[in-house]
Amino acid sequence: MYKAAIIGAGVVGGMTARRLSAYDMSIAILEKEADVAMGQSKANSGIVHAGFDPKPGSLKAVLNVEGNRLMEKTCAELGVGYRKNGALIVAFNDEDMKNLGILYERGAENGVEGLKLLDGDQARKMEKNLSKSVRGALYAPTSGVVCPYELTIEAVGNAMDNGAELYRNFKVCDIKKEAHGFIIEAEDGRIIESEYVINCAGIYSDKIASMVGDDSFTVTPRAGEYMLLDKEAGYLTDATIFKVPDHMGKGVLATKTVDGNILLGPTSVDREDKEDCKVTAGGLAVVKEKEMRFFDEVPFDKVITQFTGLRAHGDKGDFIINSPVKGFINAAGIESPGLTSAPAIAVKIEKLLLESGMHVSLKENYNPCRKKRVVFSRCSPEEKNRLIKENSDYGQIICRCEEVTKAEILDAIRTNPGAVDVDGIKRRTRSGMGRCQGGFCMPGVLEILAEELKKAPEEITKKGGDSKILFGRLKAGEKK
Ligand SMILES: Cc1cc2nc3c(=O)[nH]c(=O)nc-3n(C[C@H](O)[C@H](O)[C@H](O)COP(=O)(O)OP(=O)(O)OC[C@H]3O[C@@H](n4cnc5c(N)ncnc54)[C@H](O)[C@@H]3O)c2cc1C
Repeated sequence: MYKAAIIGAGVVGGMTARRLSAYDMSIAILEKEADVAMGQSKANSGIVHAGFDPKPGSLKAVLNVEGNRLMEKTCAELGVGYRKNGALIVAFNDEDMKNLGILYERGAENGVEGLKLLDGDQARKMEKNLSKSVRGALYAPTSGVVCPYELTIEAVGNAMDNGAELYRNFKVCDIKKEAHGFIIEAEDGRIIESEYVINCAGIYSDKIASMVGDDSFTVTPRAGEYMLLDKEAGYLTDATIFKVPDHMGKGVLATKTVDGNILLGPTSVDREDKEDCKVTAGGLAVVKEKEMRFFDEVPFDKVITQFTGLRAHGDKGDFIINSPVKGFINAAGIESPGLTSAPAIAVKIEKLLLESGMHVSLKENYNPCRKKRVVFSRCSPEEKNRLIKENSDYGQIICRCEEVTKAEILDAIRTNPGAVDVDGIKRRTRSGMGRCQGGFCMPGVLEILAEELKKAPEEITKKGGDSKILFGRLKAGEKK
């Protein structure tokens, strides 16, 4: 019997597990996929929002501003890249200008520090590629960028280093409330018992809540389509550029990611199917059209990939963080600014559990810090030489675009929560993230995974499930 079971290993589940792992208690993290960070936390804008957009007094507003304050320290402890690059919300006409004033007031009410209203020239002085048609901007210096899946992986890993257990491919399909706690059943028949359950299931958080009889909300998948540009296009902007938000959200933005690529998007369109992550020509056309308003010229010839993320859009207009049944907590409908808010959501869940009578004491040997992963491409020539001397696997480059070595790939497999598939290596090391998108390095990565996990190459998948890469030999019988 676990003290707490967390359903979902996205950034909210990861941060919650990390926070709770400071206590002397057993924790199970239950994830339906083969790896962590496979839902919204894999595909989003990566903006650490300042907090000028959410309605004052809402959970989104309070937790956004608090999460923003906690993010820098959290990233430092976890060894995750973070950059406070600031944001410019740009206005093109009288109505936008009026709305900038409203955003400024709202931001001040939410406690956002350092907001400034600028005219068009002042905004262009900050970001020289902004279009001449930009008439004014709201500058938010506390806005930042982070890699969302890196943050999730390191949060789950830190929780595991402190004793939490991760159950992969554990798709929760039933929860029974008993006198002593909950019996949680996975689709494959595995059973976990836990005194407390925390629902961090993202887009499926409504389905999990209904397993304990809470049908008070629904979650709709709201798609956001993106284009990612090569680092060569990094000159376009350093700050995050937004338009004035509307009822569908913050809209299309342009930002430089923490790794130096330019990210353009997302759209905002509701979809029927919670698994529908297709990228559409129509969606990309909308992104193109909107980006061309921000800048006079956009280097669309530098696009290296496109992707879609699905927001967990709840029907209550705010995050749903409550306890509908004793011992069961919802962290549901956590759409944007959920990435920013995650460290603060974890603190809120911790408080709810303690207030509900959970008796636990703090661990003496809790360590909030993770050993920073070696990023060979960012090392100085002297550091590279030293690393190669100590371990010759640093001398073997597997991904040429991102200069990722065999040693980093092995570390990604061996460090909590270890990578088990090709995309898992990609998210931990950037192998396959460059211009050739894995065309060169995938066979090498696959071979290392097979060797390290002691599996046949045919068993290695791209992203778990049945996403097999190899199906057998081309020339059967010619095996040497
Ligand atoms: C397009 C887009 C742009 C965004 N931009 C930003 C941004 O710039 N800044 C920001 O702050 N926020 C942003 N967000 C919001 C942010 O990504 C989310 O709020 C955050 O990732 C939510 O994390 P989560 O852990 O709640 O959900 P998820 O990351 O979706 O994790 C839920 C997990 O639960 C698992 N799961 C589901 N059902 C089950 C089951 N039955 N059994 C076991 N496991 C299950 C899933 O596989 C998944 O891993 C954006 C979101 C999207 C989609």
